[in-house]
Amino acid sequence: MLTVPGLCWLCRMPLALSGWGVCSVCTRSLDGRLAGCPQCGLPAVNRVIPCGRCLKKSPPWNALVAVDDYIPPLSGLIHKLKFSGQTALAPPLARLLLLAVLRARRTRALPKVDMVMNVPLYQRRHWRRGYNQSDLLCRPLARWLGCRYPGFALKRVQATAIQHQLSARQRKRNLKNAFLLELAVNGLHIAIVDDVVTTGSTVAELSRLLLRNGAASVQVWCLCRTL
Ligand SMILES: [Zn+2]
Ligand SMILES: [Zn+2]
Repeated sequence: MLTVPGLCWLCRMPLALSGWGVCSVCTRSLDGRLAGCPQCGLPAVNRVIPCGRCLKKSPPWNALVAVDDYIPPLSGLIHKLKFSGQTALAPPLARLLLLAVLRARRTRALPKVDMVMNVPLYQRRHWRRGYNQSDLLCRPLARWLGCRYPGFALKRVQATAIQHQLSARQRKRNLKNAFLLELAVNGLHIAIVDDVVTTGSTVAELSRLLLRNGAASVQVWCLCRTL
């Protein structure tokens, strides 16, 4: 698909505001489609009370906000952002996430965050791709929400094996000590921003690290939540 400024990325209709990237009709069709558990974001009957899985063993973060499941049209846009270098897609995708966050604040009484943080890539992977998609989402979000965004507060210090090829236990071990925090976060409400959360083990590890260092709360914000 060609990038035509001024047209909606999804339906190709002209946009009232070209910077938005996704038109109001498409935005509405994505809005609130994900009927997920407020804590893990996975499909659940109730959107207010945590699901059975979370009641049994809750993830380390306090709340999760996602735009949608990993399905078209969103999955196609994320794929373009990550693998085809279409970085112009970051602001419109960040805007969809912003709308989901603002809605979650209204409906779920989530606290305002003091800071957003990206999910760091291992340096070699970052160089190869030339950018970190999570960083590209954080920049406009921090601007719109008026919160801090220390781009390099979290560091990935080990090249971790590809997560989806590992068992749950191996995944946890694979990520242990994979990250460093280089900033004081005592008493801060923080959101970790990722494009897609699948097993959640990476954001879980980062949440534990932040909470261990005194963060007041950790929210996970992602475009897609899937298994
Ligand atoms: Zn549209
Ligand atoms: Zn849950």
